[in-house]
Amino acid sequence: MKVLVAIKRVVDFNVNIRVKSDQSGVDISNVKMSINPFDEVAVEQAVRMKEAGIATEIVIVSVGPEKAAETLRTGLAVGADRAILVQTDVVTEPLAVAKVLRAVIDQEKPSLVLLGKQAIDDDCNQTGQMLAGLLGWAQGTSISRMVTEGEKLKVTREVDAGTQELELSLPAIATVDLRLNDPRHPSLPNIMKAKKKPLDTVTPESLGVDVTPRMTVVKVLPPAQRQAGKKVATVAELAAALKFAMEAH
Ligand code: AMP
Repeated sequence: MKVLVAIKRVVDFNVNIRVKSDQSGVDISNVKMSINPFDEVAVEQAVRMKEAGIATEIVIVSVGPEKAAETLRTGLAVGADRAILVQTDVVTEPLAVAKVLRAVIDQEKPSLVLLGKQAIDDDCNQTGQMLAGLLGWAQGTSISRMVTEGEKLKVTREVDAGTQELELSLPAIATVDLRLNDPRHPSLPNIMKAKKKPLDTVTPESLGVDVTPRMTVVKVLPPAQRQAGKKVATVAELAAALKFAMEAH
């Protein structure tokens, strides 16, 4: 089966982000960017499916600026066969990305589309669901286990009350959680080989999709500074401090 994986270029999870002084957003100039960690898990899953003889081809897609090509090269180094960059400098919203992915899926006709549960920059957790809605396909979100059986995909979802088992008919959309697998690091020879793998660049316009943002960011504020803690010497002092804190609320 052909597997398509959507990957987003985001600020690396180790970076201590700073809000711009004009409150218009997060400062991403000179900041390390990486593949969204959930999408790393999605690519790893596709590669494992290929190694197991289930996936025949892995196509990775990113919607973003020219530099997102670097992120796609990482996915190619891990084992994807082909990459498509849908190039735009517009800040993409989930609905726009879902529409772009639908257009790519119409052309590529994969049986399975893997996405991350969420992108760690905007934490929307929406793109996979919107894509499934647009396509009218089965969907499983926040997946921590996945097994293919013929034309069916058995998945385990992480839900508030524990886990939920679902059987999806292919073609399907699956958004993956971090517990699904432990992604490998690309080896140096594979990084070199990835430079020769095909990477096509198209635009949202060429796919007939308008990615103009529908939302306006009013302002972005950093989280409130954490108050300094207080050391107590005895259990009695701790109990008194807790009682005071509870009464104050
Ligand atoms: P979100 O709904 O923004 O939290 O993103 C969920 C998932 O959708 C991500 O983990 C990616 O798999 C995919 N996705 C979101 N934005 C993009 C993008 N610009 N390019 C490719 N995939 C994306």
